[in-house]
Amino acid sequence: MRTLRALAPLVAVVLLVAGCGSASKDASAKSTPSKTPSAKAVKHVIKVVYDEPTTNDDATAKEILQDGGVDGIASGFSDNFAFPVDLTIHATSGDGSPFYDPATKTVTLYYGFVNTTEKIIKAGYPRITDNELGKEWAAVDDFVLIHELGHAFVDVFDIPITGREEDAVDDMATVFFTDGVPNGAEYAFDAASFFHLLQNVQGRPDASQFQDEHSLSTQRAYDIACAVAGSSETTMQQMAARQILPPSRLARCPAEYAQKSKAWKALLKPHLRSSQTS
Ligand SMILES: [Zn+2]
Repeated sequence: MRTLRALAPLVAVVLLVAGCGSASKDASAKSTPSKTPSAKAVKHVIKVVYDEPTTNDDATAKEILQDGGVDGIASGFSDNFAFPVDLTIHATSGDGSPFYDPATKTVTLYYGFVNTTEKIIKAGYPRITDNELGKEWAAVDDFVLIHELGHAFVDVFDIPITGREEDAVDDMATVFFTDGVPNGAEYAFDAASFFHLLQNVQGRPDASQFQDEHSLSTQRAYDIACAVAGSSETTMQQMAARQILPPSRLARCPAEYAQKSKAWKALLKPHLRSSQTS
């Protein structure tokens, strides 16, 4: 059995939320609207539903999702955000990509996709240890989950987005990891590494990739890496040493990260339960 416990602290993703609540010195705090006063009366939550696995691989995928912190993310977000409706995370058999359906307010995670992420990581890093694999595997699928929950937030909180929503919710996931999770910068970097490997699987970009609503996987990788670099002095030094980004881009990363972090905190703050108690 693989060692998968490394990501359990991801439940601390709520720390970012606490940070949002306490950083109330700016003008935006004063203008925060109490949008849904009734939200306090009825606590809407993110429910997690795991369909019974039908294969050993699916059972492993379910285990990765559970041990990787899916339930903790759901409960942490439920405790901290005043959702106007219930949301559902539905883990089930199948090989499709994860997606959020605004009609049912449901994020669907397929066990087959979870196992595909493992295969891509193992193919990219053939000598990876079981412990490292477990950590990276869970990190990638948690990043994907928070990305999908980002789509849900955009929907239920009616969050305005400029540019590609896909990039914006990548940014949201990266900010959550780097700002709210112990060792989260490392996990976000794991996600960046995964997208880099994913481009290898997808091959040389063709028209269909350029036409897609997502940025190219390699671009997603570099953008996440830049945000990680920009999130602290320590990660900046680490990323500079890794020479993944050229100095010209690296120099921009702190300002890019600050912009993304500021935007998401401002956009989510009105929807925190702590913003609606007074
Ligand atoms: Zn998406």
